[in-house]
Amino acid sequence: MQLKAPHFMIIFTLLILFLLALVTGSENKPSTIANTATRASLNINETALAFNSATPTPVPPTSTPVPPAHIVVIDPGHGADDWGTFHSDASGKPDLLEKEVVLKIGRKVADHIDPTIKVVLTRTTDISPNTPPQDFNHDGKIDQVDDLQARINIANQNKGDLFLSLHINSSELGNDVSGLETWYTLNRPFGLQSKKFAQLIQDKSLESLNAVGYKAQNRRVEDDLKLDNNGEHIFVLGPNVGNHTAATNMPGALAETLFISNDHEAALLADAKVQDKLASGFANAIEEYFANP
Ligand SMILES: [Zn+2]
Repeated sequence: MQLKAPHFMIIFTLLILFLLALVTGSENKPSTIANTATRASLNINETALAFNSATPTPVPPTSTPVPPAHIVVIDPGHGADDWGTFHSDASGKPDLLEKEVVLKIGRKVADHIDPTIKVVLTRTTDISPNTPPQDFNHDGKIDQVDDLQARINIANQNKGDLFLSLHINSSELGNDVSGLETWYTLNRPFGLQSKKFAQLIQDKSLESLNAVGYKAQNRRVEDDLKLDNNGEHIFVLGPNVGNHTAATNMPGALAETLFISNDHEAALLADAKVQDKLASGFANAIEEYFANP
């Protein structure tokens, strides 16, 4: 049977379409392989990235917190209702309080000390360190013993390596008495280290006052059992006996820096420049102690 032209054209078109379909199908195969290959290479790259991110990257030293080499606890004596000793003006009105002077000096120590030494203060404002008030020894009252126990607890909780309590002396003899005393407790496991630190505090205080033109009397650096204190130790330095619930577990000293009852020494203590120089001397003493404990 002879095919007519329209029939031939339809068959020819179908044949072309069939061949096109075959060619397109065969072209799809390599493209699929190519996609798989791309994914494989992406996987490799992702694995490489994952490996890179797991590799420790060097951290710039500035962003790494460096733990302090040493911790010193500075204890500005008294606070709040407890003024400590004070100087009075000619009319008998108090014009300089121990609690304020020792806080100012204590706060300045950190300005002068080597940055590897961390300074912890038992109080930074005019409060008792026993805030909020606690009856540490459970004797039914919150008193000065609890205030002192709070200072010990702060020193221990902050893992202090060294303890310095700041005080100002006073005498009923007024202008007849002047100078520096530093106390320590020999009867501790680190008693000799405390003695060494106390001597440094005394020496550097004398130097500081010399630098501002005052030749202070070098009264004594002494074991606290020499104090007229009924044979008891200075509470914040002494062992865990009596009313203590804990003792400071690091070497320490208590500075009695000048006499507030002496008019000239009170004027020095009120002078911000002298306070700063004394703080610098304490910082030097602490640095020297840590350099060779
Ligand atoms: Zn005092």
